[in-house]
Amino acid sequence: MRYRSPNSPNVAKCVMIMLYQMWEGTMADAFTYACRDCEGMEACPASVTAETEEEVWRLMQLHAQVAHNEDPAEWTRETRDYLATLIRPVSV
Ligand SMILES: [Zn+2]
Repeated sequence: MRYRSPNSPNVAKCVMIMLYQMWEGTMADAFTYACRDCEGMEACPASVTAETEEEVWRLMQLHAQVAHNEDPAEWTRETRDYLATLIRPVSV
C-alpha cells in the first residue's frame, strides 16, 4: 500500500488558490464596487467600475449622494474602512 500524506490534497488545493489569486492579481486592470455588497443596500442594483481605486471612491460617493441621499463627508473612518473592503480588483 502506498503511503499518502493526509494533508497533500489540501496543500495542492491551497497552492492552486494561491496561483489563481496571483494570476487574478496580474490580470486585474480595474476596480469595482457593487452597492448591493454593502450591508443594508442589497436592493440597490448600482455598481461602479473604474481604472483606479481613487476613481471608484469618487463614483461611490456620487452614487451615495444621488441614490441614497447620503453625505459622504459624514462617513466615519469605520464606514470608509468597511467600504474599502468591498472594492475588488477585476479584469475588464
Ligand atoms: Zn446604491
